[in-house]
Amino acid sequence: MVTMTADPHSQAVWADMLVYLRQFHAPMVRQWFTDLKPLQLAAGVLTLRCGTAIQQTYLTMKCRDVFNEAAQRATGKLISVTFVCEGTGASGQNLYPEVILCPDYIFDNFVVGPTNELACASCMAVARRPGKNYNPLFLYGAAGLGKTHLLQATCQELVNHQPDARILYISCEHFINHFMESVKSGDLSQFRDLYRHHVDVLVVDDIHFLGGRERSQEEFFHTFNALFQQGRQIILSSDSPPVEIQEIEERLVSRFASGMLARLERPSFETRLLIVQKKSRLRGVVLPDDVAAYIARRFENNIRELEGALTKLQGYAMLNGGKYDLDIAKVALGDMLPPMERAVSIQRIIGHVTAFYNVRLQDLQSKRRHRSVTLPRQVCMYLARKYTSHSLEEIGGFFGGRDHTTVMHAVRAVKDLCRFDTVFTGQLEQLEAKLPAELGRPAAGATSAASRNYAAAGR
Ligand code: ADP
Ligand code: MG
Repeated sequence: MVTMTADPHSQAVWADMLVYLRQFHAPMVRQWFTDLKPLQLAAGVLTLRCGTAIQQTYLTMKCRDVFNEAAQRATGKLISVTFVCEGTGASGQNLYPEVILCPDYIFDNFVVGPTNELACASCMAVARRPGKNYNPLFLYGAAGLGKTHLLQATCQELVNHQPDARILYISCEHFINHFMESVKSGDLSQFRDLYRHHVDVLVVDDIHFLGGRERSQEEFFHTFNALFQQGRQIILSSDSPPVEIQEIEERLVSRFASGMLARLERPSFETRLLIVQKKSRLRGVVLPDDVAAYIARRFENNIRELEGALTKLQGYAMLNGGKYDLDIAKVALGDMLPPMERAVSIQRIIGHVTAFYNVRLQDLQSKRRHRSVTLPRQVCMYLARKYTSHSLEEIGGFFGGRDHTTVMHAVRAVKDLCRFDTVFTGQLEQLEAKLPAELGRPAAGATSAASRNYAAAGR
């Protein structure tokens, strides 16, 4: 058990970490991160308390490396982060740990509209009274319309309302693999015991993958019957209605269709707009109305793609001082050729320089001062200054929170090197030769790639 009292030092470190995460890993950051409580920083370990076990598992499995990086940047020391969950909130202890649930996938974050309200209401009803209302519950619809979100929301609601329920949430693929492995290793009776006798709610995502898998179908048929006869809840999702699943036995089709069938269809523009707004709020981003509408209009068929667009836009905005406007959105989403001053340029510069010097962007953004890192960092700053219109402050900030004088120094250092180091000059020319073809033309004042006239960089 970890002490409950937060010490001031860990609070300060966590505050710095959040700033760092927002600046360099914006698409990963969620509003609920601000509810995490720093408990202590001791023996090189920062302990953060999560509200729920689901958050704890998610952060441990998906975010730990980045949190470690942030802790090291915030302290300058080799600190690692650990996540704990105490008493309060849903325990999730009866969730089998096969799949990591995403804390974002809850009912509150699901936007309901005419094309998904039946599916959502059915899931909510099942979450309140599993095994009583609709059994099985079968959700179907095309990719990216929210099936997984609803299944996970149902699980999370169940964890809240029925902490003792034993919930098994798996992908169909997991079921098939687990079954095959059990056959191979001779553990079939253990497998059957788990699925048929130790589960109150069985949730299987993408059940259409059973198509063409005869032995797995046979096994699932018996699993289904055993659970159903005991009044256990079964929830399934699929990309098509039961009758349209390819190569699946008739007896499974009739069982899948014997309870509640709920279809998810493409949401309307209005619903998509609400989804964009909800998703951006979750990420702590305030999008101007025209940008939100632009994204909602562009992505009609698949909400996953719509979310991908938001992630891309965040990446661009990160390099533009956190600014969101329609021009940036159009560039980010590929509707406009990037004016060469914009984000792509710096990313391409980084791509070429890191490949050439065999270093990682993290190294360039780190505090390391070894020449193997400082030289490529200076070259990046020099090229960013020469070929983009980012300010000295922006460039310094991007390369590890350095100030404008560091960038000025880098530009000078590169120019000095060019004066007496012909090998370096040749390398720089090679690097520059790769840029203009992609960038279009150098920023105002810069000359051709192979030119030795570096005057423009000093502007
Ligand atoms: P599917 O399983 O149907 O392929 P997902 O559940 O993975 O789709 O949804 C893809 C993404 O779209 C998820 O991030 C999910 O949160 C989001 N999404 C889909 N529909 C909605 C909705 N109505 N409200 C909020 N988010 C949604
Ligand atoms: Mg899915």
